[in-house]
Amino acid sequence: MAARLVRAGVTLRNQVNAKWPSRDKRSDGWIGDAAHAARKSDHNPDADGWVHALDIDKDGIDADRLANELVAYARNLEPGSRRLKYVVFKGRVASGTYPDKFWVWRNDPSLGHWEHIHASFTAAAELDGRPWPLPCLSLVPKLPPVVKWDDLKNGSPTQNRLVQQALRLPIDGKFSTTKGPLLRYRLRTLSPTMRAALTRLGKASGLFRVP
Ligand SMILES: [Zn+2]
Repeated sequence: MAARLVRAGVTLRNQVNAKWPSRDKRSDGWIGDAAHAARKSDHNPDADGWVHALDIDKDGIDADRLANELVAYARNLEPGSRRLKYVVFKGRVASGTYPDKFWVWRNDPSLGHWEHIHASFTAAAELDGRPWPLPCLSLVPKLPPVVKWDDLKNGSPTQNRLVQQALRLPIDGKFSTTKGPLLRYRLRTLSPTMRAALTRLGKASGLFRVP
């Protein structure tokens, strides 16, 4: 089986690239070199070809924030966070291994990793490529939500269905304003493709615009 990065890792890398398009990738990595292969490493493909680790160069991105938000995401047990096994950056490691240090940075300068963030993934990450809902990866400027349920209620059934699919929201046709927070969350985590599709739909229909 050809080696490939777990889907959650591919998504994370894509999100980082989308957020910081001109970032430095020289310290990026995923599949292990000969030195890695000689020892146990999540960079080595498993029996099915899955590589469970990703290195993200610290340059040209907000690396401290990204590392901290990955850890906070796991600590808060947010949906999908069990895909993350541990994170190493700047002589520190955080993981869910020890109940008394659950996703809290532990100092160990011998761990190194001064040039890149190392993220290790669990088996849950192999097929789960959902976006990582980290605030620092959001492509949406911090503005009030522009799409409002009240704006959508005059949409045709077809338009409403498209919006429903794009946002992966259970819309009942009434567009209750109580779904506002969920709508804001979905907008933040939209893939670039979905965002483009939704933007086009909003323009064509004149019903809403996507920030
Ligand atoms: Zn690594």
